[in-house]
Amino acid sequence: MIRDHFRVLKIDLATGRGQVEEIEGRDACAGGSGLAALLFGRLGLADRSWEDPEQPLIFAIGPLTGYFPLMSKVVCAFKSPYHDQYAESHGGGRAALSMRFADLDALVITGKAKRPSCVVVGSRKLEVKDVHYLWGRSVQRTGQMLRRMVGGSGHRSILRIGPAGENRSAMACINVDTYRHFGRLGGGAVMGAKNLKAIAIVGDGSFDLPAGKEYAPLFQKIYGQLTETTMMDKYHNLGTPINVAVLNGIRALPCRNLQRTSDEAISGITGETFAERALLRNTACAGCPVGCIHLGFLREKFAEPHQYLYRQVTYDHEPIFAMGSMLGVLDAFQVLTLLEVAEKAGLDVMSAGVALAWATEASERGLISEKETLIPLKFGDAGAYAAAVKHLGLGANDFYRLLGQGTLKAAEQYGGADFACVLGQEMGGYATGEVFFVSQALGLRHSHLDAGGYSYDQKQKGKDAAQAVEFLVQDEKARVFLTSMVSCLFAREVYKEAALADCLNAVGYRNLAENMDSVARRVQNMRWQMRLKTGFDPGSVKIPERFKQVATWKGAIDPEYLNSLQTNYAQRIREMGSSSERG
Ligand code: SF4
Repeated sequence: MIRDHFRVLKIDLATGRGQVEEIEGRDACAGGSGLAALLFGRLGLADRSWEDPEQPLIFAIGPLTGYFPLMSKVVCAFKSPYHDQYAESHGGGRAALSMRFADLDALVITGKAKRPSCVVVGSRKLEVKDVHYLWGRSVQRTGQMLRRMVGGSGHRSILRIGPAGENRSAMACINVDTYRHFGRLGGGAVMGAKNLKAIAIVGDGSFDLPAGKEYAPLFQKIYGQLTETTMMDKYHNLGTPINVAVLNGIRALPCRNLQRTSDEAISGITGETFAERALLRNTACAGCPVGCIHLGFLREKFAEPHQYLYRQVTYDHEPIFAMGSMLGVLDAFQVLTLLEVAEKAGLDVMSAGVALAWATEASERGLISEKETLIPLKFGDAGAYAAAVKHLGLGANDFYRLLGQGTLKAAEQYGGADFACVLGQEMGGYATGEVFFVSQALGLRHSHLDAGGYSYDQKQKGKDAAQAVEFLVQDEKARVFLTSMVSCLFAREVYKEAALADCLNAVGYRNLAENMDSVARRVQNMRWQMRLKTGFDPGSVKIPERFKQVATWKGAIDPEYLNSLQTNYAQRIREMGSSSERG
């Protein structure tokens, strides 16, 4: 299984055929983010639209997948419907392990199927099934039906889209095994444009563990750090929702379309409240002993006098902020209800919540009316938002279809760009200050996870833009190496440089272990090269006025510092994207 090349299955949906190719570049690009950028560089069509059937949809795992815990992510790369540029999205669940057991480093899907289809792949299997009867079905119903249709329970991963993806919403996610997602930048629409309702990856093969004496004790050591120390406690215990009260307490939680950064009634949706009132159980991505996935329950009466059914809904900090504080919905069960509606539609909950927060303020200001929103929107009105999320997923009218392409697209037509909470895409759940705002606005994935800008804001008091940007660039580089390994970023304190080198050596990737820094820099440059080649101009990014008006825990935003950060970071991105150091 250790090999110096990548084993890549390429499938053409137009013919229903596929072939495995051996692609060189392991020592240069490692896997995950590096492999995805390498494949997009070869197969992506920079000058053609994201909807072009020949654009590739790429899924890649890393060299440590299956050998060490929390090497559990898959990197999905595509040309995004959100900005028609190169994009990466990361998802957990069982997909990574299923790909390892199917003996695939990457899966690349091109072409457009004639009928709505499901691709089923295994170690010796490829089938493109006609599933026209699933088109229009919710993510949940599609999952239920596919689990019955595709064998291999326990080894199989099912990726699928809902109506939002079929409608090509730029906010459509790809659901992975019910509780995880390739959430952002519209991967679901890429599947929809290919008539691809689902992908089932069946991990039906096997592989040997590394020979030699290093591996077993190293595995034990890492497993022990993950399970017997306090390092991962916060993820298992309250999970990421612990941040809701913390950020609210320091005035750094986006509330009511970022008109405020704290809410005095926040106690209804804190991590503590979810844990005490709504938590049903924890679950985990395959191969992870931490179990940070928190499942809340929703109870529904289906008959008198006391007949109930319950459903399980996953929650995290980001979804709670987007469907909770951002919309003024401050009841845990109401937030779970909104999350469930978005999940069924196959919408990215963060993008949807932030977009509807803008729509609410636009309604209040009279820029749009019920003619557009179909239902009056009001902060705190969870019932109205449940209907609006459905409308957004279905693309119920011109307004919702446009909003589904991005809040700024809707603002272009209706006005209100100043208060659109968009930093490259709809914002993440941190209003910590200038460094985070610039980090998300310009970061490659426009994700709060691109670099630790939110933490820099909280730790550093000075306003040295060059120093802050140097931090962002270096932190991004370290994270890029982790995402090339496909590590869960929650494990970044465990998988520090020395530990990663030990792991690579123990598995047999000695060249990678010796050259980690240069590989990380190369992959970082390659990703920026893809982004610039597909049209990204870091100098033209506009940070809406709302981010300059809001008061965070540090007080008022300093527009000069913000500008200086933006100019500096844009310059560094141009340099990285034009560097000659490539794969
Ligand atoms: S810590 Fe959470 S997200 Fe990370 S691998 Fe484990 S269950 Fe998945």
